[in-house]
Formats: sequence, C-alpha cells, structure tokens
Amino acid sequence: MHKGVVIAGAGQAGFQLAVSLRTEGFMGPVTLIGDEPELPYNRPPLSKAFLSGKESEFDLPFRPAEFYAAHDIRMRMGERVVALDVRGKSVEVDSGESIPYDFLALATGARVRPIAVEPIAGVLYLRTLADARQCKQLLDASEALISIGAGFIGLEAAAAAAGKGKKVTVIAAEDRPMSRVVSPLVSEHFRRLHANHGVTLLLNEAVVRVDHGVRVHLGSGAIVEAPLVIAGIGVMPNIELAADAGLRTANGISVDEYLRTSDPSIFAIGDCAEHPNRFVPGGRGRIESIQNAVDQARAVASTIAGKPRAYSAVPWFWTEQFDAKLQIAGITAGCSDFVVRGDASSNSFSVFGFRADRLAAVESINRPVDHIHARKLLEANAQLSPAQAADETFPLKTLLSVKYQNS
Ligand code: FAD
Repeated sequence: MHKGVVIAGAGQAGFQLAVSLRTEGFMGPVTLIGDEPELPYNRPPLSKAFLSGKESEFDLPFRPAEFYAAHDIRMRMGERVVALDVRGKSVEVDSGESIPYDFLALATGARVRPIAVEPIAGVLYLRTLADARQCKQLLDASEALISIGAGFIGLEAAAAAAGKGKKVTVIAAEDRPMSRVVSPLVSEHFRRLHANHGVTLLLNEAVVRVDHGVRVHLGSGAIVEAPLVIAGIGVMPNIELAADAGLRTANGISVDEYLRTSDPSIFAIGDCAEHPNRFVPGGRGRIESIQNAVDQARAVASTIAGKPRAYSAVPWFWTEQFDAKLQIAGITAGCSDFVVRGDASSNSFSVFGFRADRLAAVESINRPVDHIHARKLLEANAQLSPAQAADETFPLKTLLSVKYQNS
C-alpha cells in the first residue's frame, strides 16, 4: 500500500508541492504538516499590504479549506514534526503520532534571527501571520516605529509605517540599504526614497541595548525611543530535523540538482534547501524567495510523479516600498561592473550587473518589461555587453531571438 508523500512545513514550498503533485498526476496520499495554525498563506504581503492595512487576513490564504479536501490533500495544521526516522521512513509529530512515508519533503523554511543583545525586551519580529498581527495591532496604536535592519523586511515595514504617518527610524549595521542584495546605485535610490518620505536612516550603527519603553541604545552613544521596535536582520534555515536525522547539512539542508538530500527518499525545498545553482557565485547556495520555493516544489513534484526534473531557474525577487517596485533577476553579489539603463534620477530605471564580463543580475525599479527581458537573458546566458545594456535604443529582445534562432 502507498504511504505516499509527507511534507513537513506548510509554507510556500510545502503548499506548492502538495498542489503540484496533484497537477502532475500523483495519485497516492499527500499529507501536509504545518506548525502554524492557519491554512497555507501568502507571506510577502505581511510586511507590505497587510501591515499598511491595504490587505486583510482574508486576502492571504492561497486556497480555501474545500480546495484541499477536493484534491485529497491531508491537512495537519498546528502540528509540528519533531523527529525523522529515516530507516523506518516515518516522521513523528508533537502528539507522538508516527506518520509513514514513501517520500518525505522537508519544507521547513527559515526562522528570524534574533538581535544579539540582552535584554531584548519589547522587540518584535515579522515572519509569520501571528507576528504580523501583533506588529500591525501595535503599529496602529503607536505614533512611532523603530525598524532594526535595512534589508527588505526592515525597509518594507518602515515604508508601511511611514505611509501611515508614523515617525520612523531605521537602524542598521550596514553602510547602505539592502547592501547584501542590491547594487550601490539601487541602495542610494532607496535611501533617498525613504528620506523623502521622512524616514530617518541611521546606518553603520550597532544596537547595544534595548530597554523597556522602548529605548534603543546605539554604539555611537545615541538613544532612540519608540513604542514599537521591529527587527528584521535576517533568518536562519530550519535544518535541525535534518541534522538530527544525520542528513547532510551546511548553511541549509544540502541537496543535489534534483533537490534530494543525502537520503534519496527525502527532498528539501525552499528557504531551507542548500542547493546547486549556476546563478550563485560558488555554484551552491540557499535562496530565500517565493520563486525559489515555487520552482523547487514544482521540480520535486515532477520527480516524484515519475518525470525526474533537475532544478534550474533564474532566481528572482521583488520588494515594494512606497511607490517603487524593485524586481531583481539573478544575483547581484559578486558583480563588479554596473551600468544604468534609463534615468537613475527618476523612479524608473534598471541597473545591469556584470560578473567576470557576463551579465549576472538586473535590478529594475518600476520597469517590469526590463525585468522580464532580464530573466530571459540570464536564462539564455546571452552575450549582452555593458554598452548595449546602457543603450536604451538597443532592443534587449534581439539577443533573445538570436539565441533562440541559433538553438
Ligand atoms: P516558509 O514560508 O517559511 O514556510 C515554512 C513553514 O514550515 C512555516 O510555516 C514553518 O512554521 C513551518 N515549519 C518549520 N518547521 C516545521 C516543523 N518541524 N513541522 C511543521 N512545520 C514546520 N520573498 C519574495 O520573493 N518576495 C517578497 O516580497 C517577500 N516578502 C517577504 C515578506 C516577509 C514578511 C517574509 C517573512 C518573507 C518574504 N519573502 C519574500 C520570503 C518568502 O516569503 C520566503 O522565501 C518563502 O516563504 C519561503 O517558503 P518556504 O516554504 O521555504 O518557507
């Protein structure tokens, strides 16, 4: 008898795998186990439209409960997988029950990195719907917000709060916004954007203490006060289940190109998976994005359904802050040359990044067409020169048609 597929983690990747197994024609049992109480929901709006009040909780679930019943997906929400028995091929949930599998997918995602100062009274984080509810409720009742971290989450929260007329201070150790993931030009654009909306950005600043109240003490000696502090300083992959079961882990659960762990009946997908990726410097990495979670889930569904599919996709990301939608195709880290397409003093331009003379990343601000072209150019490993990228009269499409004509 089929024991089927068990999926640990019901976030973006786990949800997508369950759905894609059915669309791929997999007929066996599919069990989705998630430790959050809600049905799988869309995480990106939590720091954007949900926090700003433009979307409510009702907008977040991917599908209603009836969908899962109709597709015979066994939903076990509010349950946590606490151990794997890789020899016996079963998982144990927190009630003590053991659930057998033919294939197991670890889609356990990531959890927030806590700030490294004691005591950390009064600091909130933003990862789950429960977190976001609390942040929103307190933000609505507060005059001011301190956002620790100038990455996507910290800046999105800052923009949502400033858009509601709150006094916002962003404190970050980095010397420029989103420094890990965008070029200096795009950082500068977002620095100005926040400053123009009244956000105070305190960069190169370490948080040394947080007092009740809430008072945040900085390395420079300054003290910033606000009733609400949200920290967004990155995440850590949830690898403990895998590591405790003896599966190979690094900065994530290590998988091959088919997203198989060191146990061939166990896959890992999404934020927790450390995988081979030709777009990442060094050839392996862990990517925290919706695209990565969705595409990896689809690849595994295909493999389990009997059509083995290696994972290979251009990574892409986005963020929305005020009236700027930034879309990134590829990985900016490691790029040495950048050229601008469009007018960098406007709110609509793209930055093309080159690594070892090859196009490696394109950051598009309010230029969705550039973004779509960029994904195709990167996928095709097209030969675009910096001069062509910077020349707005040069149609990016031509390189794609040449590639496809030749292939
Ligand atoms: P997750 O979505 O984290 O899901 C993992 C799930 O597994 C969680 O529900 C977790 O509680 C559960 N779990 C963990 N361990 C266990 C266990 N032992 N048993 C049962 N369940 C378990 N990405 C973008 O591309 N664009 C954006 O604009 C964007 N905005 C974001 C905004 C916010 C506020 C956040 C938090 C993230 C954002 N991201 C964005 C990142 C994106 O949401 C993640 O990359 C994506 O959700 C990863 O999906 P996942 O399924 O791998 O992990």
